[in-house]
Amino acid sequence: MSDFNANNPANESWLEISKDSDFSIQNIPFGIIKRKNGNISVASRLGEQAIDLNALFEAGLLNGLGFDASDFSSHSLNSMMIKGKKASRALRNRIAELFSKENNEIQGNDELIKRVLVAVSEVENLMPVEIGDYTDFYSSIEHATNVGTMFRDPNNALLPNWKYIPVGYHGRASSIILSGEEIHRPKGQQKPKDDEPPVFGPCKLLDFELEMAFITYDGKPLGKSISTAEAEDYIFGMVLFNDWSARDIQKWEYVPLGPFLAKNFASSISAWIVTLDALEPFRVAGPEQDPKVFPYLEYKGDKNIDINLEVYIQPEGSTESKICSSNYKYMYWNQNQQLAHHTINGCNINAGDMYASGTISGKDKSSYGSMLELSWKGTQPLTLDDGSERKFIQDGDTVVMKGFSTKDGVRVGFGEVRTKVKPAV
Ligand code: MN
Repeated sequence: MSDFNANNPANESWLEISKDSDFSIQNIPFGIIKRKNGNISVASRLGEQAIDLNALFEAGLLNGLGFDASDFSSHSLNSMMIKGKKASRALRNRIAELFSKENNEIQGNDELIKRVLVAVSEVENLMPVEIGDYTDFYSSIEHATNVGTMFRDPNNALLPNWKYIPVGYHGRASSIILSGEEIHRPKGQQKPKDDEPPVFGPCKLLDFELEMAFITYDGKPLGKSISTAEAEDYIFGMVLFNDWSARDIQKWEYVPLGPFLAKNFASSISAWIVTLDALEPFRVAGPEQDPKVFPYLEYKGDKNIDINLEVYIQPEGSTESKICSSNYKYMYWNQNQQLAHHTINGCNINAGDMYASGTISGKDKSSYGSMLELSWKGTQPLTLDDGSERKFIQDGDTVVMKGFSTKDGVRVGFGEVRTKVKPAV
C-alpha cells in the first residue's frame, strides 16, 4: 500500500481544477452518481469531473485496499463504509495519488480517462448513504440563547441543562432528501392566537436551519459507549444540512415531547460527503466550556472545525441574495462530545447514521442561521437584493447553503445544498 498523503497542501493534480473549486485534490469526497447510460456507481470528485470508482476498480487501480467490486457498484456508500476508517482513508489517499501530477497510471491514457472521468454536468447525484437513524442536536450556544430570549426569558435564555448536556432528539431518517429535490410547504395545526382555538392549514412560518451533519461508520455493540478520544474513528465525513422547520406548527405541538411534524417533512443534504480526514487541517479550538463538563465529555486537542457557511435566498425568477455568513467553528459542543454523549448510555450506532449539529449561529446578527433569528420572529424583515422583503420563506423561494474551508492556499468545500419550496398541496 502506498503512503501517499491526500492532505499534503503541496499536492497538485494533472487534471485542471479551478483555484476556487471546493473539490481540490486535497478534498476527494465520496458520493453516488448515475451516468446517462443508467449506470450507478460510487464516485469521487475533482473540480468539475466526477471520478467513477467502479470504473477505477475494474481497471485494477484500487487493488489491495480491501474492497470488492460490489462496494463500488453499490447504490449507496454503506457497504464501502462498513469496511471502516482505515480502508476508506487508504482509498482516499490512493485516489489522490492516481490524480497527482507525479503519477502516470491514468494521466495521458485517453481511453482510460474516458472510462473513469465524467463531467459532473453529465451525471445525476443520488442519495450518498442509506440513513438508518438520524439525530438532531442543539449545540450552538448563540442559537439556543436567541431562541430562549425570544420565546422564554432574556435573563434565563438557556435552560438549566444546556451547558451540561449536548441536547438532542431523534429525528426522522425517511424524509432526508438530496440537494435539488423540491419540497411542498407543509400543512398542519397551528395556534396563532393564544385565546382562540387552533387552526389547520398550510404553515405560514416556514424556515430553514443552517446545520452540518456528520455520518458514522459502524459503532460498538449495544451496551458499549464511544469515548471523546475514540469518536473520530467512528466518523466518516460531513455534509451541509438544511433542517426545514415549520415554526408555527412547532410552537403548538412541541410540548411536552419536542419537535415532531414541524421537522419531519424534509431535511436537505449536500450530495458529496467530505471526509473528516479532509477536514483535519482546518481544526481550531472550540469555545471555553464553563461550568466544567462531566469527565465523559472532556476532550483533548482542537475539536472544532473552521468551515465558512453561507445561506442564500433565490426568489422565483430572481437572483440569489446572501442572507447569512456563519461558521461551524462556533459550535459550543463538538462532534466528539456529541457522539460520546449519544452512546454513554450504551446506545449503538451504525454505518450511515446521520447526526446534525443544530442551527449554527454566531454572535453577529448576520451570522444567525435561521429566518426565525434573522428576522427576530418576523419583527425585522430582511430586504433581498431584488427589493423584496422576507420574514420567513415564501412559495417559489430556493434556499441555498454553501460551505468551505480554506488554509495555506488549500480549499476544501461541500458545494451546496439547494431546495425550492413549492406551494402546499
Ligand atoms: Mn434542527
